[in-house]
Amino acid sequence: MIHEILPVGPLQCNCSIIGDETSHEGIVIDPGDDIATIVGLIHKHHLQIKQIVITHAHIDHVGGAMKLRAATGAPILLNHNDYTLLKMLDLQAAWIGMTAPGNVEIEHSVGESDTIKAGPLLANVIHTPGHTEGSICLHFPAENKLIAGDTLFAGSIGRTDLPGGSFDKIINSLREKVLALPDETVVVPGHGPITTIGEERESNPFLRKA
Ligand SMILES: [Zn+2]
Repeated sequence: MIHEILPVGPLQCNCSIIGDETSHEGIVIDPGDDIATIVGLIHKHHLQIKQIVITHAHIDHVGGAMKLRAATGAPILLNHNDYTLLKMLDLQAAWIGMTAPGNVEIEHSVGESDTIKAGPLLANVIHTPGHTEGSICLHFPAENKLIAGDTLFAGSIGRTDLPGGSFDKIINSLREKVLALPDETVVVPGHGPITTIGEERESNPFLRKA
């Protein structure tokens, strides 16, 4: 599997460009900004992008989605529980001093048990409310990889003090769904370094058993 992880924009959101070496079909997850660089990587790997997946509707993850759609023709997917947040992008832009990206058009919602495909690559969608109500993670079972959005970070978890956030829900999502994955699963968080489920189960202060 081709997998480029590119920190984009002022908040350095980890954008993932994932593709299949044979069919050259690909997906992009969280194109928050720096679309020219993302498009350069797509061309470098000769990928045809089939889907643009947004883990949650915070501006640093979704801000460049319409530009990427214009460049690739790929549809944008987001969980419907974040549609309200998506309508607040102007406000979100003002909070962090970014330029508002305008309207983002979602092709359709993706939620629990949906699958995302690119050639033979398959990701299961896991609905993990808490950081936002519509937060999702993408699990690639064959590659033992989890794209975690802002639900899980190396040594930390997503903040829950923004509109739509819930500490109880994120802990529940992590305990019931994310920690159900095997220890060897590589986790690509929405920001910062990669980690594994085993490492976080062992040492993440929010997840260690009391
Ligand atoms: Zn976020």
